[in-house]
Amino acid sequence: MTLKQLSVASECAPFVKTGGLADVVGALGPVLATHGIESRVLLPLYRQIAHLAKGGRVILDAGSLFGGPVRVLSKRAGGIDLLLIDAPHLYDRPGQIYLNEGGVDWVDNHLRFGLLGWLGAEIARSGIAGWQPDVIHAHDWQAGLTPVYARQRGGAVPCVLTIHNIAFQGNFPATTMGALDLDPKGFTQDGYEYFGQIGFLKGGLMQADRITTVSPTYARELMTPEFGMGLEGVLAARKSDLTGILNGIDTKVWDPATDPALAQSYTSRTLAKKTVNKQAVLDRFGLGRDTRAPLFSVISRLSEQKGLDLALEALPAVLDKGARFVLLGSGAAELEHGFNELAARFPGLVGVEIGFDEDLAHLIQAGADATLVPSRFEPCGLTQLCAMRYGTLPIVSVTGGLADTVIDANEAALAAGCATGFQFAPTSAAKLGDALDRAMSLFADVKAWQKVQRNAMKHPVGWGRSAQRLADIYRDLAER
Ligand code: ADP
Repeated sequence: MTLKQLSVASECAPFVKTGGLADVVGALGPVLATHGIESRVLLPLYRQIAHLAKGGRVILDAGSLFGGPVRVLSKRAGGIDLLLIDAPHLYDRPGQIYLNEGGVDWVDNHLRFGLLGWLGAEIARSGIAGWQPDVIHAHDWQAGLTPVYARQRGGAVPCVLTIHNIAFQGNFPATTMGALDLDPKGFTQDGYEYFGQIGFLKGGLMQADRITTVSPTYARELMTPEFGMGLEGVLAARKSDLTGILNGIDTKVWDPATDPALAQSYTSRTLAKKTVNKQAVLDRFGLGRDTRAPLFSVISRLSEQKGLDLALEALPAVLDKGARFVLLGSGAAELEHGFNELAARFPGLVGVEIGFDEDLAHLIQAGADATLVPSRFEPCGLTQLCAMRYGTLPIVSVTGGLADTVIDANEAALAAGCATGFQFAPTSAAKLGDALDRAMSLFADVKAWQKVQRNAMKHPVGWGRSAQRLADIYRDLAER
């Protein structure tokens, strides 16, 4: 039996993306199709993706909602069936999708994402243009109210809620309750009330039928005060409904044998060709022609979470030993400044590109020897998966999905021939420095390094098993 699933989300790659959430939402549809699941994505029609409206079909005129006219357009693009929420008063504006031009959260984000959940619940209850989902899959706080509204309206369609990052919870003043069309009866500890505020994620966690997060280790971590960010009690209470399922990457998009963004394609059998990409990266950043020196990289949002302040502390020691380093990322001003300073201090050894650039990210993944992911917490992490696929060895802290996806090149793993990268704990500059040193030593042994590269490239990083596990959860819920 074909099962119909609706993803409710604020981002979807390749159309609109600020992080891994978008990659996951964009990948799910095609992946689930191979498991007999027909999937659609409910997504705000932001100005940034206004072009998608062209050729779209209006399938719902919802009248006036949350302060203005709302319609839903149906459009198939890039192999994904989109349901686009056309609400100009909420989404047709400049700036970024969550932030205004001054870099501050839009003051009406509660309405912008309240509407997303409201419509998700409405489609669950009444269907849309004759299509009714059997299961709803809401993502992160932006879609957190979906199961809350669904319960409020007595909907019977089950709802899965996935936590991609619990650092973002969507808490708003209780005074917004009326504007959000929330039933005041739900403003309780068992409902959407959270320390006197309206908690989008908290409400969703209480009301969803099942909760998933993006790695088994993060699922365990979330139930502790260190990682739960205030919601550990809620999650511990729902432990039996909480499952950690690793994210995958799109192995067609991330394939060194066919990637059009590379200077030279390669496979695990033609690893020597990877050097052409290394030279292209060195050229791009003006770092000379010595491809024998190890090239470390970072591709990341620059935020406290990612532990890149530790990289700033640990890198000078390996740069002094002749390593090269490139960074692609943007975010916190002090980190952008810190990396620019590092480049100024090590001219010809360090290259920094502040910005978001998909093609350059692919080229760096192909050209670098190793990539640093020293996160303080990391729900799953996709960068290390892309790196492994490209034979670029990840150097990661032991947390969340990083703990679940990388096999440390310790003596035992090297002897057993199963290492795929480097891990370090605790998350400190000193321990990262030790891991960088270990990487430098292994790199000097070409054969040993290549063996680890091949292991990494063979490691399953696609959706295979995880898609099956999600499909099982959907079917289990739909059959109840
Ligand atoms: P998060 O979602 O916390 O930002 P993930 O590792 O889960 O981190 O996913 C981030 C994705 O975005 C990865 O695929 C990463 O390579 C990519 N990415 C991060 N920063 C940039 C950038 N500046 N340019 C291009 N891609 C980036």
